[in-house]
Amino acid sequence: MLYRLKDAGYQAHLVGGGVRDLLLGREPKDFDVATDATPEQVKAVFRNSRLIGRRFRLAHVRFGREIIEVATFRSGQPVTHLDHQTDNGMILRDNVYGTIEEDALRRDFTVNALYYNVRDFSVVDYAGGMQDLQAGLLRLMGDPETRYREDPVRMLRAARFAAKLGFRIEPATEAPIGELAGLLGDVPAARLFEEVLKLFMAGHAVGSFESLRQHGLFGQLFPDTEQALATQEHEFPHTLVLKGLENADARIAAGKPVTPAFLFAVLLWEPVRLRWLALQADGLAPYAALQAATGDILERQLARVSIPRRFSTPMREIWGLQSRFSHTKGKRPQRLAAHPRFRAAYDFLLLRASAGEADPGLAQWWTDFQDSGQAPVQSERSEEAPRKRRRRRRRRKPKGGGTE
Ligand code: ATP
Ligand code: MG
Repeated sequence: MLYRLKDAGYQAHLVGGGVRDLLLGREPKDFDVATDATPEQVKAVFRNSRLIGRRFRLAHVRFGREIIEVATFRSGQPVTHLDHQTDNGMILRDNVYGTIEEDALRRDFTVNALYYNVRDFSVVDYAGGMQDLQAGLLRLMGDPETRYREDPVRMLRAARFAAKLGFRIEPATEAPIGELAGLLGDVPAARLFEEVLKLFMAGHAVGSFESLRQHGLFGQLFPDTEQALATQEHEFPHTLVLKGLENADARIAAGKPVTPAFLFAVLLWEPVRLRWLALQADGLAPYAALQAATGDILERQLARVSIPRRFSTPMREIWGLQSRFSHTKGKRPQRLAAHPRFRAAYDFLLLRASAGEADPGLAQWWTDFQDSGQAPVQSERSEEAPRKRRRRRRRRKPKGGGTE
């Protein structure tokens, strides 16, 4: 692609994570190309391309199963017009074409602003990215506070690259994060969903979680979970999240799939569980209480980070089935095992048990049940719920929508 562009008379550079990861000896996740050709000119060079993007126009060029993004050099500068920037300094549009130097300086971290030039096989470095790459440092270009205000997602990117690359965040880049974390509230929930996937589904979920928490960012994405973790009386919420994320990382390392439904089920379980217990203490039956708890927590969560229905529906099923594992008599186990979401829900029960939150004996019962295809004969399980519930005298007022 780079040669095709060059031969058509344009500048053509590989840029961003592709260059960074290759220099680090890692396999790039995707490749981005930067050029002085306009999107229309790119389209004319590649038949297998189409123009996309509302925020800024890009060409997507298809190569077999790969899609390579080709962007025209842009300048991050002309944000003087009111409609380009919000009161908080957030950039809404930055699709003004520019030179390669301008294109470099509007990027986020110095290590993300290296350009591989196919014309002479050089790496062009306008911002000291090579040195930072060697030192393992994430350094924002320009004034960090201004850059975070322009786009608060850069705070999440700092945490993510720190986890992914094992880099340190350079002190001046790190310093404003604590104070500015709240700006993430201005970022559309759909964009945060995309970022959450990149944070937790790329093989470094544990590192992302720790980096986000360390910088006060996790609570911006999952406020109810952060509160549950911060005020925990038992170890298991933290253990459950950590073990769930460790599982996800191990699966990705082994080339196995991870579903966003299971990931969100892990990340939001503790607030759901607490609400579930509270509603049962109010007298709701377990299943009804769980449904109501799920509704409450999701309503608040979705205002922060959207979860498309194709993931939230199976997530709710994984949770919903948790209340049915305690029924081990009669035909009910067979019926539960036939549920299309049984396997994921069982995996989730195992995770809860391994974190010490659900009864390990119950998890074992279901393991034996599946191995033998029938209820274990020696079972003396009652129809009781897996854990002793703490009865609460005072009922908690439901926050948000009424659910009774
Ligand atoms: P990876 O693909 O491994 O997650 P990446 O660095 O390639 O990492 P992308 O999101 O693919 O990240 O973005 C490609 C490049 O675009 C980045 O390297 C950076 O130069 C620039 N970029 C992306 N997002 C931003 C942002 N929010 N602010 C400034 N520059 C950005
Ligand atoms: Mg990339």
